[in-house]
Parts: sequence; structure tokens; C-alpha cells
Amino acid sequence: MIEKDTIVAQATPYGHSSVAIIRTSGPNSLRVVNTITHSDKPLLNRRAVLLPIYIDGFKKIDEAVFTYFANPKSYTGEDVVEISCHGNPIIVELVVEAICENGARIAEPGEFTKRAFFNNKIDLSQAEAVGSLISAQSKEAVEHQVKNLSGVVSAEVKKIKTSLINILSSLEFQFDISEFEGDLNENVNKFYKELKNNTLSVLKILKSYDMGVAYTSGFRVVICGLANAGKSTMMNSMVKSNRSITSSISGTTRDVITSSMIIGGVPITLVDTAGLEKASNEIEKEGVERAKKEIDKADLILSVSSPDTKKIDLGLRENILDVYNKIDSLKKLNKKKGVIYISALKKTGVDNLLKEIKNRLFLRLESPGSTINTIRQKESLDSCFLSTQTAMGILKTNPGGLELVAYEVREAINNLDSFLGKTTTDEILDSVFSGFCVGK
Ligand code: GDP
Repeated sequence: MIEKDTIVAQATPYGHSSVAIIRTSGPNSLRVVNTITHSDKPLLNRRAVLLPIYIDGFKKIDEAVFTYFANPKSYTGEDVVEISCHGNPIIVELVVEAICENGARIAEPGEFTKRAFFNNKIDLSQAEAVGSLISAQSKEAVEHQVKNLSGVVSAEVKKIKTSLINILSSLEFQFDISEFEGDLNENVNKFYKELKNNTLSVLKILKSYDMGVAYTSGFRVVICGLANAGKSTMMNSMVKSNRSITSSISGTTRDVITSSMIIGGVPITLVDTAGLEKASNEIEKEGVERAKKEIDKADLILSVSSPDTKKIDLGLRENILDVYNKIDSLKKLNKKKGVIYISALKKTGVDNLLKEIKNRLFLRLESPGSTINTIRQKESLDSCFLSTQTAMGILKTNPGGLELVAYEVREAINNLDSFLGKTTTDEILDSVFSGFCVGK
């Protein structure tokens, strides 16, 4: 898709800063810049140059550094100019307005990256990585998204696709030769083995999904227990701040209070809930209701009890970690297996608690070299996996049905193409790019 129009948007966040960057992309980029700078010299490719900016034809409103990236070696694959002006929203608005008056239009959300995709600078999974990289919240998440952006997963997918194309052409060749010319059994075994290798490769990428989602969406860890068990004190000791109000008066935390922390590169939302006991008024009732809702959507529940508060009944759930607090107030401690003992007040055992939280949350997560993290990527690979598995099943039960096998292999290839965005519908593309901000 070759775009005729030129787009413009601020690439840096809105607000006051030392520098703001405005980006244009499209065939008119250079002409527009010459008009607002009153310059008759064309910008040189990849050279930064300081120029004045005029609005209304003559009023100078700033001096900015202009950098031109000639097509196709630019982010979008088109002519791009980046304007680094002073970071004042008024200046930015006036510059963008002046550019629009001279033949550009405001970019839609994600349009720069969308153009990069349509101009084959990146595939769809790389485009998705742009968004994930910008919003990554930990060093580990950044490292993973940089790998995705540089095409590590795409390369793995392309390798599987090439192998499946080879299998497909061998299958088609097999249709054409007579039974006397080739040993069918030997070839069926070969096809089976190759399909199995590819199925395993797809599975390996699929297994990274939970880790990828953990890096982007994080986990919810909900603290619950009776009032006065020390839940708020525990949350504070975990985040090493005073986010929750603690008090010795029962029922201080009537609403849920959240705090964020990173464990093993994964963003964790800690949720401190109201004590789960009989509510004596409407506000407490609402607090208990909210606590119950949080418990239902928790990835992990920290069920807190102490010498002066009983353990609450949370029913049969696999995601409970029992924590026994206030051990400083005991002379003797009889430890039970599977329970974490802490003193939130004295901050003893808190590191062990954090370690156990990590163990429990990461139990099912595989941490391979690269990760997928969008449902779109997962669904494409799920379908590919299903097709290669079906193809293997046909080879086992009906070795003569090579045409059926070929059909499934073709399906698998189509699914990989949709992963890469080669055969993706406009609807899906729109939903991918509309999640971006303007300027990306
Ligand atoms: P919550 O209602 O479960 O959130 O309980 P709080 O965190 O508000 O604590 C209730 C009371 O228990 C406060 O007086 C805290 O100082 C006290 N407390 C909390 N943790 C500990 C602890 O580890 N040891 C002792 N001795 N007291 C604690």
C-alpha cells in the first residue's frame, strides 16, 4: 500500500519538556518542511540541521533541529522528517498546525507503525512488539520485546513456514509419481518426522505465551484475611512504603487498596482487601463484596492469619498461599509445612514470602528465548499447531490420504502467514493498530 498523503504527529508525550519531537511521514514531508522553515535548500539525508520555524507565513515561533530520513530507509519506509523543537505544547501545536496547513494531516493512532508494516519494514508481530516495548515495565520485559521487535520470533515462524512449504512441495510431487517410482512408506515416515519437528517448534513458541502475557499484563496478588491479621502492615512491608493505612482499630481497610511492584521482571499488582468478616454497616458490606470479587480474579491469594486472628475459609482453590503473621509476638512457633511465617511489623520473613510468591506465580511459566504475548499471535499458532497435528494423524491412520495431508499443511502455512500479517484481514489490522497512541 503506497500512501499518497503526508501525516504528522507529536512522537513524544504531551507536556512541558526540554525537547519535543514532531514526526512527518509521506511524499510531501520535505516540501512541507521547506515551507515552514522558509528554506530553499533541501534537507540532506540523515543530517541534523538547525532551522527557524515560521507560522502565518512570517512569525518565527521556534528554532528546531530537523532530521530527514529518505525513503525507503526510514521507520515507515517513506520520506520522514523528525523535528526536535522546544517541549512546549503551544509550540508543538502551532508547528503541527503549520505543517497541516501546508498539505499534511494529523496521523491516526499507530499510523506510522502501520505504514512501516505496509511498506514491509516490519511484520505484524514486530508491529505489535513496538507497542509492547513502549509499555514494558521491567528490564526483563524490555529485553524480550526488543528481541521480538528485532524479529527473533518472526524468524522462528518463517523457518517453520519454509520447512512446511518444502513438505508441501514434496507431498505434491508424491501425487504426481506412480507408486512404482517411489517407496510410499518411506516417504510417509519422512513426512511424519518432518511434520513432528515443526509441530514441536510451534508448541515451543506457544508455550512462551503465558510468560509473554505475564510480562505485559502482570499478575494480581490479593491479600485477604480477618481484620487485624496485619494485611496492610504486610503489604507495606512488601512494597517497602506506606501505601496502606494501618491501625489497630478493626476494619480500617474498607475498600481495596492496590500497590505495584516487580517480581522477576513481572509487574505485580498487590491488592489489600477489607477483612472478610460479618459487615456491620453498608460501607463494610461493600468492602467485603469488593474483597470477594478480588479473590475470584486473583492469580494468587495470600491468606493471612496471626496468633490473634483465625484463618478464613476460602473454599477449595489451588491459588492460595497461607501466611502466618506476627510471629514476633510468640514465644514458641510450631511450623506447619506450606505456610510462610512472617512478622510484617519487624519485617522478618518478608523476603522469603516474596520468594515463595515468585515460585508460585512462575510455576507454570516457561521462559524461552523469545515470547509471544498477544491473543492474535496465539490464535494463529494454535490453528497452525492443530493443522500440523491433524496432518500427522492422517499420515498415521490413512497413509494413502496424502491429499488430505497436503490440505492441512496448506492450512498450517496460511496460519503462519496470518501470524506474520501477510493474510490478515483489515478488521484485525485495524484492531492491532488502533491500540496504539497517535505518533507511534
Ligand atoms: P489489617 O486489618 O489486617 O490490615 O491489619 P493491620 O495491618 O492494620 O494491623 C493490625 C494491627 O496488628 C496493628 O496494630 C499492627 O501494628 C499489628 N501488626 C501487624 N503486623 C504485625 C506483626 O508482625 N507483629 C505484631 N506484633 N503486630 C503486628
